[in-house]
Order: sequence, then structure tokens, then C-alpha cells
Amino acid sequence: MSVPSALGLPSLRLEAPPLSGRVDAAVTRSTVARLVASGTAVSKADLVTAAGLARTTVSAAVDELLARGVLVPDGIRATPGRGRPADRLALSPHGGLVLLADVGARGAHLAVVDLRQRLLGHVHVDIDVQEGPDAVLGVVESHLDRLRSAASSRAPVRAVVIGLPGPVDGQLGVPVRPPIMPGWHAYPVAARLRETYGCPAVLENDVNLRALGEARALPADQAPLLFVKVGTGIGGGLVTTEGVLHHGADGAAGDIGHVRVRGAPDVTCVCGNVGCIEAVASARAIADRLGRVDGQQATIADVRRLLARADPAAVALVREAGGLIGEVVAMLVHFYNPARVTLGGSVTAASDDLLAGVRSVVYQRALPLATRNLVLASSVIGEFAGLAGASVLGIERVLSIEGMAALG
Ligand SMILES: [Zn+2]
Repeated sequence: MSVPSALGLPSLRLEAPPLSGRVDAAVTRSTVARLVASGTAVSKADLVTAAGLARTTVSAAVDELLARGVLVPDGIRATPGRGRPADRLALSPHGGLVLLADVGARGAHLAVVDLRQRLLGHVHVDIDVQEGPDAVLGVVESHLDRLRSAASSRAPVRAVVIGLPGPVDGQLGVPVRPPIMPGWHAYPVAARLRETYGCPAVLENDVNLRALGEARALPADQAPLLFVKVGTGIGGGLVTTEGVLHHGADGAAGDIGHVRVRGAPDVTCVCGNVGCIEAVASARAIADRLGRVDGQQATIADVRRLLARADPAAVALVREAGGLIGEVVAMLVHFYNPARVTLGGSVTAASDDLLAGVRSVVYQRALPLATRNLVLASSVIGEFAGLAGASVLGIERVLSIEGMAALG
């Protein structure tokens, strides 16, 4: 007699919650350091509650972090009601340095910060990413060396973070067929920086860095956050409700420049396809459509200059581009239901016309539930959003389980 099967369903996989699977010294140190860094808990008593660990375990981790110079005592905190005042803890200003490089197509912001996010040095340099990895990274390294020497802190460099204007494989630390970066495909960017500075190096896409910087500069309820950069090209980055970057399976998530948009002119894109949003609505595309200014083909700088003085032809083109970008954003809003969409890049910095164009289409096309609480705004940090995101990634890398394990 056969046993009747209940349902014709295959065996289904039930998920376990994402536990670390181990509670060793590095895990506890990382937990404690990140709770202090985030301001969630800055006294031993608060850390015990927040970490859900035994008092002795937390105490041992705090002592270890104090001994290794990651944490320092930071005065006395008055406790509400009765009870003894608690000793405050903070990240040490001497706990380590993080080197940051936000490399764009034409220039790079380079900086050094400490674990308390203090900017110890910053410079903007002109570079042309088309000159290839050896030349560009050589310039980046020489400026980072100079900034580090000039910084008042003698703390060791604990992490390097670099953003590049193209698709990257963050796991391997290499660019992957970046359209505007000849010679960079598969170049071991992270490995080179790891070798140069003797510490972990993180490679990230430049728009992802901006998205992360923007999200962490805003209250937590502004995530999920979608960042759309409209510059020489068009790119996107997505920060989840948990405040971390969404990379997708291969790191390509958010790379929206080559989405084709309805009603777009048949312009051939650098990728070889026709009608990509980047080919029809980027700052480069707006400049091309503007034609000649003062007898010469308009540049992106001309677009910004004309926008700043509300030139009707420039404003009309930018609003039209905003409408096309709005079509893509409306679709993404339906798909991901972000709390906030941030527009960044050179065109948005020059005027609100692009934002107005995007807004008009998104609110018209997206359904009420997706736009009920949606904030659609320009970047609050502007051109430093990339450095801000790099700073977050670098400091959190130092305080990660791997970073804490590397302390020995
Ligand atoms: Zn394309």
C-alpha cells in the first residue's frame, strides 16, 4: 500500500537567520566597537544591554579595545535617575587612518580621515581616467602619501577605499569592462592598493559611494535610498533599509545608465545600443543637443553656466532630460519603493530644473502607495558625497570582524 503524498511540492529550503555562527573575541570586539562608533551604546552597562552578551564578555572586549588603542575613555556620562555616573567610551583619534579616493572621469577627491571621521586632509586633483590604471593610480597614491605625511596623526593606515566611475567587481577588487575607462578591465586595483599600504583595500563604484554617503548623512528613515547621478554619464546606487549598499549578484545593481527609455531620441550610446538614458539625458547629451555656444560646441561647463543664468534653451533641454530620467525613476520607484530618491551630479548642482523635470514625471506616473511618503530631492552633501561614503565603508571595514581579527 503506497503512502499518499500530501502535496506535489518539492522539498523547500527553509532559511536560518543570518547568525555569525561564532562568538569569538573578534566578533565581540567588532560588535562593541561598532556599537560605540554608532553612538548606540557608549558605556559598559549600555553595551551589555545592546550587545545581549554577558557583562564579563563585554568587559573583556572593552579592555582589549582600550589596550589596543581602538577605544579611549571619553569622560563621564550622567545617568538619568539614580545610579552611578557611567564612564563613556569613544573611538580613539589615534586608532588608525583611512585613506579615501573618489575618482571621477576628469578629477579625483583624495582624503585622509581618522576613525572618528575627522577629515585630516583633502585635495582635489585633475586626472583623466582614460590615461589608464598605472598613470591614474600613480597620481592617486602620490597624493594620498602626501596627505598622510601632512596629517597631524601618526596612526597606522588601517584601510584604503577607492571609487571608480564604472562597473566593478567588489569581491575581486577589479573594474569590469568599464565603458569610459580603456585599459582598466580586470586591473587589480584593490590588490595594488593593498600591497602599497599593507592594509585592506576596498574598490567600489563611484555612484554607490555617493549613495552610501548620502544615506548615512540623513536620518535612518530616509532609506531605502536610491541615488541617481547625472553627470558625464548616468548611474544609480541603492542603499537598503539596513543602511548598506545593495550590490546584486555580481555588483551591477543600480547601473541604470543603459536602460532604454520610451520616447527617447535614437542616439547611439557608448555601449553600442541605441536610446540608452545616458545617451539622451546625461550632461554630455544635454551639451551635445545644446549645439554651438559662442561659436564652439557646448561643453558640460557651458550647460551649467547657462542654467545658472536661466537660459531658456538650456532650461528646456534640461527639463526634457529630467522627464526622460523621470520615466526610469518612476519604474524604479515602483520596483523598489524607496523612501528617498536623491539626484546628484553636475547638472543638479547647477539648478533645480532637472529635479523639477524628474518630479513632474515621477509623481504623475507612479502609483500613490509608492509615492505617498517619497522624498525626491537633490543631494544634501553634493560633490563630497563620494568621500563621505568612502569614509563610512573604510571605518566600518576597520571595525568589522575581519578588521578586529587582524588586530591579533
Ligand atoms: Zn548604453
